[in-house]
Amino acid sequence: MKVTRRDFMKISGVTVAGATLSQLGFDLTPVQAYATELRIKGAKETTTVCCYCSVGCGQIVHTGGGKVINIEGDPDQPTSEGSLCAKGAGAYELVTNPQRLTKVMYRAPKSAKWEEKSWDWALGEIARRIKKSRDKSFTEKNAKGQVVNRCNEIAAIGSAHLNNEECWLYQKFLRSLGLVYIEHEARL
Ligand code: SF4
Repeated sequence: MKVTRRDFMKISGVTVAGATLSQLGFDLTPVQAYATELRIKGAKETTTVCCYCSVGCGQIVHTGGGKVINIEGDPDQPTSEGSLCAKGAGAYELVTNPQRLTKVMYRAPKSAKWEEKSWDWALGEIARRIKKSRDKSFTEKNAKGQVVNRCNEIAAIGSAHLNNEECWLYQKFLRSLGLVYIEHEARL
């Protein structure tokens, strides 16, 4: 029988835990029965890649009843071998946490109140503010008369949710506006 790395991790984890508890005199029959009823039993396994950074650690997503019921590291993924950092290990919460924001929330300057807004409103507002700041701060030439075409009053921080290609497009967009203060979350 061919045993994959994932099978090995499952078998060795159960074996080590079982051996330790057996040595302490526990009757493992009910535990073993319970283990077979684990929430991922019968769930569909889909392999994917963590969305948070370009390391690209492998994950297994368990789904059942049309819902995500578990996300864990994929031991068969050759680079990460089942390990995930704190962000990747918390990916299940990304999908299921009821406190996750799914709508645009806006707090006006000097206000203590959050307001729900539409995406159309948010995108229009962002574009309007970018244009206003860029028009105000755009510098065509430096003190030596050299052409620099830079926008000094906007800074940007990339997101760990962006993959390499999206990061490339994003920085192209920022540089086309003349931004020079460009950072990425992964460096902070
Ligand atoms: S955020 Fe963590 S788990 Fe996700 S790809 Fe990057 S290093 Fe891997």
